[in-house]
Amino acid sequence: MRRFLALVLPSLFIPIFSAGQAPHRVAIRAGKLIDGKNDKPVENALIVIEGDKIVSVALGGSAPAGAEVIDLSKATVLPGFIDVHTHVLLQGDVTSAEYDEQLLKQSIPYRAILAARNAEIALSHGFTAMRDLETEGAMYADVDVKTAIANGEVPGPRMQVATRAMTPTGMYPLLGYSWELKLPTGVQYVDGVEGARKAVREQAMYGADWIKYYSDRRYHFEADGVLHSMVNFTDEEAKAIVDEAHRIGKKVAAHAIGSDGIAAALRAGADTVEHGDGLTDALMDEMARRGIYWVPTLTVGLYVAPGRGGNWQKMADLQKEDFAKAVKKGVKIALGTDAGGFDWKKVNQAKEFAYYVQYGMTPMQSIRAGTSVAGELLGWSDKAGTIEAGKWADLVAVSGDPLKDITELQKVRFVMKGGVVHKNEMH
Ligand SMILES: [Zn+2]
Repeated sequence: MRRFLALVLPSLFIPIFSAGQAPHRVAIRAGKLIDGKNDKPVENALIVIEGDKIVSVALGGSAPAGAEVIDLSKATVLPGFIDVHTHVLLQGDVTSAEYDEQLLKQSIPYRAILAARNAEIALSHGFTAMRDLETEGAMYADVDVKTAIANGEVPGPRMQVATRAMTPTGMYPLLGYSWELKLPTGVQYVDGVEGARKAVREQAMYGADWIKYYSDRRYHFEADGVLHSMVNFTDEEAKAIVDEAHRIGKKVAAHAIGSDGIAAALRAGADTVEHGDGLTDALMDEMARRGIYWVPTLTVGLYVAPGRGGNWQKMADLQKEDFAKAVKKGVKIALGTDAGGFDWKKVNQAKEFAYYVQYGMTPMQSIRAGTSVAGELLGWSDKAGTIEAGKWADLVAVSGDPLKDITELQKVRFVMKGGVVHKNEMH
């Protein structure tokens, strides 16, 4: 009996055991490779992937024995795109009525179902990672969406999430309803230094990767030609938010549109400035010096301006001037769109790349803003944003040359996330 077992064990069990040990190997032939790091693309690259990671990137050569070969030799391969300002739980809010309706008429479970759909749209458009910057009244449902994606239950990008965001009481919708009604709010109302610290701890407890707060509101141009705004928090409160977040290892995103709001966010020590329409030369210089990221969200600005009227078109024009200056001054610009501020089904987030080129970046700078620079903002420089050995196998392919026509990035034909092919139309 013993002898019999000794004979069958190796043949029956060892192959199964070793098959479980050896990760799936894939070799991708890339006609052109833009790796997110080097200034120039390379021709005929061979990218070898094991499991969810890239193990080597070489010029030509033959695929390792036993590897599954994916032929992208007629395509341009790039790192998976990263959008660092999204709202998966929102479906567009050009008008405040559209916003209020979502919070009043849609349950959080229904909004979470739409969020899962939006995440799939984003991944199909080539976005393999996103920072979702608050749920707009859907409490902590972003954490659930992130978890479902991470567990492989639904397809979507890797996510970092900010949960509820913060303003002081009464400074964010829903507003203007009878005081007799108990209504949801688009953010968590937070007051006082102790309240700020407690809110940061609470959001972190329920899964916030980032803390987001609204530095300002009521944007208006004054005689000096500068876009001004009303600052929401006292300096003491804003500093308490940032200090507590940093103390427990979280970074802080500040929504700041007017110059006053941006200046207040910089005084508080925020890590990223969102929108930033009212940036002045002095504020840009300070951001460049301190390495604070600007996330311009041009797609939403240009999308909502016609419907909102008022100052919004003038603000969009101002961003165009700021953008060219910020590029020259070396401000770190990471790609963010504010998707959700526009309808996920109607606008492809990858339009943002084209706006950056229209406004003064080279195509390569624009690509980096939405790959390696965005990856750095997320603290994932060692994992995402470039195609290099050791990184996650997150990559996309387009048929044409995005360095000649940046709108090619709106026509992604191949998407791989963590070594798994999500979409392949390159046959
Ligand atoms: Zn936003």
